[in-house]
Amino acid sequence: MFSPFVKKLMFARQFNMEDGKIEFLGDRELLLPVGLVTEFQAFDEDKTYLLAKKSCIAELERMTAKLGVKGPELVKNLTEIYEAFGLGRIEIKDFDVKNGRAIINISDSPVARDYIRKNKSSKHETCNFIAGMLAGIGESIFNKNMEAKEVKCIAKGDSVCQFIVK
Ligand SMILES: [Zn+2]
Repeated sequence: MFSPFVKKLMFARQFNMEDGKIEFLGDRELLLPVGLVTEFQAFDEDKTYLLAKKSCIAELERMTAKLGVKGPELVKNLTEIYEAFGLGRIEIKDFDVKNGRAIINISDSPVARDYIRKNKSSKHETCNFIAGMLAGIGESIFNKNMEAKEVKCIAKGDSVCQFIVK
């Protein structure tokens, strides 16, 4: 089910899928299998994190300029965009604006699900790509260097994937 914000974007043709193209806020996007992300991670976890973070920051710079909103409304819009891209459901557990720190829960991470499908379970957290995306989102919102660390993961038996972003 799309959120009202994403429905509004679709109605305004700012989120569009036709003629072999996916366009979001005027830019081309690509629907890729999540297996590609987990393969990248298996190849190099740290580089996957850094690439996700770097590309997320660049994308969000363009997106936030087009959305023209700030503060809590920007956070809400970015949360809905994140979910529309299939990255899992976000729950903000703690959002400390003063100290630039957040605790984020992601339900049903597609990266962890793909990991479980291939390897059954893991002894460590598996969502480097998601952590990179959240670091990029955090950096865009707090406007300072941010890193995200996954501390709970469904691949190792936790009920959610949890990230400390600071
Ligand atoms: Zn995870």
